[in-house]
This record gives sequence, C-alpha cells and structure tokens, in this order.
Amino acid sequence: MTKKTHAFQAEVSQLLHLVTHSLYSNPDIFVRELISNASDACDKLRFEALNAPELFEDAPELAIRVAFDKEAKTITITDNGIGLSAQEAIDNLGTIAKSGTRDFVSKLTGDQKKDSQLIGQFGVGFYSGYIVAERITVESRRAGLPASEGVRWVSGGTGEFEVDTIERAARGTAITLHLRDDKTEYLDRWKLKQVIERYSDHISLPIEMPKEEWNEETKTYDIKDEWEAVNSASALWTRSKKDITAEQYKAFYKNISHDFEEPLTWSHNRVEGSTEYTQLLYVPKKARQDLWSRDSKPGIKLYVKRVFITDEAESLMPNYLRFVHGVVDSADLPLNVSRELLQESRDVRAIREGNTRRVLTMIEDLAKRSGAKSDETTVVDEDAEDVVDYNAFYAEFGAVLKEGLGEDFANRDKIAGLLRFATSTTDTVSVSLADYKARMKEGQEAIYYITAENQSAARNSPQLEVFKKKGIEVLLMTDRVDEWALSFLNEFDGTPMQSVAKGAVDLGKLQDEAEKKAAESAAETFKPTLDKLKTALADKAKDVRITTRLVDSPACLVVEDGEYSTQLARLLKQAGQKAPEVKPILEINADHALVKKLETSTAFDDLAHILFDQALLAEGGLPEDPASYVRRVNALLT
Ligand code: ADP
Repeated sequence: MTKKTHAFQAEVSQLLHLVTHSLYSNPDIFVRELISNASDACDKLRFEALNAPELFEDAPELAIRVAFDKEAKTITITDNGIGLSAQEAIDNLGTIAKSGTRDFVSKLTGDQKKDSQLIGQFGVGFYSGYIVAERITVESRRAGLPASEGVRWVSGGTGEFEVDTIERAARGTAITLHLRDDKTEYLDRWKLKQVIERYSDHISLPIEMPKEEWNEETKTYDIKDEWEAVNSASALWTRSKKDITAEQYKAFYKNISHDFEEPLTWSHNRVEGSTEYTQLLYVPKKARQDLWSRDSKPGIKLYVKRVFITDEAESLMPNYLRFVHGVVDSADLPLNVSRELLQESRDVRAIREGNTRRVLTMIEDLAKRSGAKSDETTVVDEDAEDVVDYNAFYAEFGAVLKEGLGEDFANRDKIAGLLRFATSTTDTVSVSLADYKARMKEGQEAIYYITAENQSAARNSPQLEVFKKKGIEVLLMTDRVDEWALSFLNEFDGTPMQSVAKGAVDLGKLQDEAEKKAAESAAETFKPTLDKLKTALADKAKDVRITTRLVDSPACLVVEDGEYSTQLARLLKQAGQKAPEVKPILEINADHALVKKLETSTAFDDLAHILFDQALLAEGGLPEDPASYVRRVNALLT
C-alpha cells in the first residue's frame, strides 16, 4: 500500500472544526482522553490474549509512555496495547461509530459559545488532541501483524487524513501531537506530570515519563534515557477506601463516564459472601445525551480479577438504573466469560441484585440529605458533599427511575418511596407519596392522581373540580411513562392509588349524605335525557351518566378502572403502537346550565356531540371529526 488520502466522515469534520475553532475552556483534557484510549488499547490486548497468548509477543509488560520534545514541539503518547491495522486506522480515526457521539454532533448549533459548552460536557476522545495540536501523527501496528504492516496516519484535522504503510517493530500505538504555537506550555515535564496526576492517576497501568536530571553547567534539566512511572498504577477500586481521596474518586468518574461534571455521589464496596466482587458506583449530576435513545449503553464496566472484560454488560444493572456509571470487579466469574454466561450466571444475578440495592440506597440517602429536608439525621458519606438537591436529581432521572415500577417488582416499594410529584397544591415536583399520605384529609381512603400531557392541562382538568372544592390534594402526573408505570403501583404503604379519571367517583367518607342523595335524585329525574344522550352518542361513548365530580364544567370523560385511559391510548397511537380502542364514559354535571338546556333543546343532537367533543378537548384530545365540531358550535353561536 502506498500513501493514500481519505476524507473524514462529515460528522468528524464538523467535530474537528469545533474542537479547533472554539475556545476550549479546559485544554488539559486531551491528556486524559489519549491516556484513556491507550489504557483501553492495553485492556483489549490483555483480553484478546486470554485466548491467544502469542499476541503479547515478547513484551507482556503493558505500559503507557508520555514523552515530549521541546525543539520539535511535540508530545508523544505511546502504548504497547492492541494497536491498529491500516484499515482500523481508517475506520476508527476517520468516522464516528458511537451513536452517542453522533447524537451529540447532531445537536451542534453552529453557535460557538453554546457548542463549546456542549463539547466541554461531552469529551471527544481522540479528536481532543486537536485542541492543542495543529497536526497529529499516529503510528501503529496491530498485535499479531508482521512489522511490515505498520501504519502511519497523519492529519491536520481539516477535512482529510493520509494513511501510509510503514515498517514498525513495536506493537501498539504512538500518537504524536505537533503543538500549536500557543500551546507550548505542555512542553514541560512538571506541567505534563501534574495533568497526568490530576486526571489519570487511577489508570491501572504504569504511565511513564523520561527521567530528568538537573545540569549545573547549563542550568537546565537534561532528559535521560530512563523511564519512571508517574502514577500510582493500581486500579483505583482495588485500593482501600481510606487511601482514596475524593479528588481521586471524582477523576476516576470523569474518566470512565466522559462526563465533564463531577458525580453527584458514589459508593465503593467490597462485597463478600457467596459471590465476591467489588463495586464502585456513581450517580451523575446530569443525564447523558443518549439516556433516552434505544441503543443507550449501560454505564458499568465489568472486570474479572482486574482484567477488563466488557463495558456492555447489560445484565449487571437493571435498565431503569442505566444512568449509573461504575466498575464491577468479580472474583468468581471466569475470565473468558461469554455473553450467554453473562445473561444466565447466578453470580451475575447476585451482582445485579447487589448493585440495584446499593444504588437505591444511595438514592435514598440523597433524598435524606436533600437540602429541603435536613431534619433527619443520617450517616453522611464523608467523601461526598453533604447537602444535595434531591429535586434536581429527580428532575434529571425521575422519569427513568419510574420505569423500575414495571421492571423490578422486588424493589417496587423502595422505588415508589423515591418518586416525587407536583400536586394540585404544590407547583414543584417535590412531593413524595409519604408526604402526600401524611397530609391526607380525615376520611380520605385513596391517593388520588391525574395523568395529563402537562401540568397546566392537569391542573385545569374538569376531573379535578370536586377535589379542589373539597380541598383534597391530587398528584399531577405528566411524564410520558407515568400511566404505564403507575399501572404497576396499586397501592403505597397500604393506601390504594386511584386515578381521578377512572371509575366512578367514590370519595367515600369525604362525601356527605346530602350530596349522595342529590346525585341519586338527579339521576332519576334526568333519566330520559340520559337515555337520549346514550342513543345520540352510541358511537362515541360507552355510557353516559350523572357525576358528582364536576363543579364548573358541564361534562368530562372517564374510563373504567383497569382500562387504558384515553390519554395513554393517544400516546401509544402517537408512538405508532397498537392501542386498544377505548370508548370512554361521558359524565355530565346535572347542575350545569348547558346540561339543563339539553332537556328542552331543539338542537339536542348537536348539543350532545358538542358536550362530548368539548370534554375530549378539555383533556388534550381532538374531536374525531373536528370540522363537524366547528360546524355545530358555529350553528349554536349564530
Ligand atoms: P472512543 O470513545 O471509541 O475511544 P475515540 O475517538 O477516542 O473514541 O477513538 C476512536 C477509536 O480509535 C477507538 O474506539 C479505538 O478503536 C481507536 N483508538 C484510539 N486510540 C487508540 C490507541 N491508542 N490504540 C488502539 N486504538 C485506538
């Protein structure tokens, strides 16, 4: 193969443009990103060598080296890991494979200020080299390939890159950054060492730099031909808790998560018993970009006896806790653990259960430590900040957490206790089910809730009227997952959950005898009109009945207990899924002027349909035939 020029994939060009043109707020991170790649490359080699030990050739000691050359203005980061073949260099360094990165690029606005903030939060792996370099040369040889099949990849980071075949005896990759003139501060041993210590101390391989010696004559440091490790080179999670500082925990988090922000909290434990493992789990502050996408990856890396196995071990954490990042190191799993084994093994199940319990406890602690509720005394993790804003955590991850109601039956009560809601009397999403229960009215026998598209639709819903009148608080549920998730929660702490839009209103002891009597007699006198309504709306309504739940509105729609609500049916349809046809029940308010008018109206049929369609509109739906609706209303108006 001779030298060939390739074009970057469009997304890469976009990304590179941004990296080189935006004022990057924290250039140091290129060190972290490139060392992290080097470390991954060594992990991959170690993993492949489990079945093919010859890949180690005669150099089984893995290490990363960071060197610099003041004259040439270069920094070179070398690893003896898995390396790249020519094709891999073209594929991996010219395109973006990760869907998360692609999503990220698609969010770029072109507004430099906003974009550089975004990019700061994201981390861009290899391409971060271009924050400081005007040109990058990568020389590599894949483990197992002959020396004649080395590769050199060169690019100035604009539009294209060159790939050439070279002779390379050394296995692995050397990345040389040709620094821009305004970034030569990195050509300094002290500076580089400091950055490595800050970001990469926990890397389990030695990171080596050339030794330096003071020269009295020239009054400068001479670089020696000897290497020394500048990090502790022991996997962070294997160290004892008391030997790890909060700074080190945070740096490790940033490294495994690529998150720019610090974690909200973490928990590090050695679990002993029939299954032995170490877990180091972090809860982030912000949801990552792809948390909602279908191919969102779990955030847990699996190690077996310190050998990296996979970062796609879905079975180590339930799906609804996919926002958690961390490391699990098992002492029991075999090193050549297969995908199948990962799904079925008893040890894996035990680890997942242990992780789940741990994370739920961490979240419970967050809630207890939350600034809003400092009345409870709890043991505060001395490493984590002691005051947190649980509502802020909940705003990021509450909707994911709710999926757990349907996914994790064993922990349902625990999860329910962690949920927060806005209510008819509280604007912020901050009320727990326990809070709600504590202030239930005397005689109230259920926890009432309403699901709607958004808070104002929920607040103004006709179904809420009688509850407002009686001063009964109602939970407002406006997350898309709410209705699905809540269908798994029939009760909380012994009190049933009751949708205000389902079934007949039964306020039980909250309703007085007089009200019940009035409703019954209204149903009697109204019977002929009800029958006429049923006939007129036979296609639309399953039933028509008098209700006591309305105060100001003439009518509303409800469904039977246990049926899909009209709201959920709509959501399913929007999502292109099959939804059962729900025929709602039309409930009417016998005291309302419009309803009274029905009895004597000459345009009975029009009025009946208007009542029905308005009830639908009031809950955010659309009349089946909007044009007819408009025609009918106009006929009445004129
Ligand atoms: P990623 O987040 O996947 O690491 P990068 O842009 O940092 O994204 O790197 C892209 C790919 O290039 C990596 O997935 C890996 O396959 C390859 N790569 C980067 N650095 C090295 C290295 N030092 N050795 C071997 N492969 C590397």
